[in-house]
Amino acid sequence: AKDEGRNQLHFFDPAMQASVDQRLRLQAELHHALQDQQMLLYYQPQVDAQGRVTGAEALLRWQHPTRGLVAPGAFIALAEETGQILELGQWVLQQGLCQQARWRADPQLAPLKLSLNVSARQFRQPGFVDTLRLQLTDSGADPAHIALELTESLLLQELDSVIALMQSLRALGLTLSLDDFGTGYASLNYLKQLPLQQIKIDQGFVRNLLDDPKDAAIATAIVTLADALGLQVIAEGVETAAHHRILLERGCRHFQGYWFGRPMPLADFEAMVRAQHAP
Ligand code: C2E
Ligand code: CA
Ligand code: CA
Ligand code: CA
Repeated sequence: AKDEGRNQLHFFDPAMQASVDQRLRLQAELHHALQDQQMLLYYQPQVDAQGRVTGAEALLRWQHPTRGLVAPGAFIALAEETGQILELGQWVLQQGLCQQARWRADPQLAPLKLSLNVSARQFRQPGFVDTLRLQLTDSGADPAHIALELTESLLLQELDSVIALMQSLRALGLTLSLDDFGTGYASLNYLKQLPLQQIKIDQGFVRNLLDDPKDAAIATAIVTLADALGLQVIAEGVETAAHHRILLERGCRHFQGYWFGRPMPLADFEAMVRAQHAP
């Protein structure tokens, strides 16, 4: 084993060493990103059956000084590991609530709902609900126009405590949405027990809607199930008119995806909504 160890050291892949360095650098850069105001939110439209924008999902972007605009795929997982997701997540909530409060004060933008992603680690952080209660009051945001997108990884914790936490969030007046439904740990039994109002059909099922009858069947079953349980269902990753048409046929009434709009800067999103009101 000692020889093996020596061999491993000897044949240690320089590319792997570089990636360890990169990780450490990324971690250090993330640490400064918030202080240096390099993080921002993009907004992706969510639409109803008529294609009218009813709200947006806020998606994190990192305006990196040398690397340009970085999507969360490049840093969320690391931030989860290091715990930096807690600070990032707090920032997202703060920004999101303040944004909703500004929309609330504008007649054309007031009906907009804002969906915010909450990581499982953030959700189970002690004091999460109390902090959110204060942030809601301080920001002046309308809880009825805020949805929290939770992922199924939440369900790795003890179910009773998850339900209790979700109930306190409901008591604040927030909408609770289960993100990426069908990809994780959620059994149908959880759907019955969790105090949810919305589920999001994962884009994996939507992507192959036309070529894979099994994915189409799953998407349809999710819509039917959600209806029966009194949950709103929103399909994400709707990229084409055909996706939209098939999902409409199957009874889905809420959509998000490139077909309706990519994640975009705030000003572009607001312009899109205002254009809807133009005569
Ligand atoms: P998600 O929550 O499932 O967000 C949807 C992702 O799908 C976004 O990627 C969005 O840009 C992308 N998308 C939307 N429509 C389409 C489409 O029609 N086709 C395709 N191919 N993709 C589409 P994005 O912005 O890169 O975010 C990736 C993930 O990063 C998110 O997945 C979410 O898990 C995480 N994330 C983003 N912002 C936050 C945040 O503020 N907090 C936390 N905890 N996670 C976040
Ligand atoms: Ca999401
Ligand atoms: Ca999702
Ligand atoms: Ca996803």
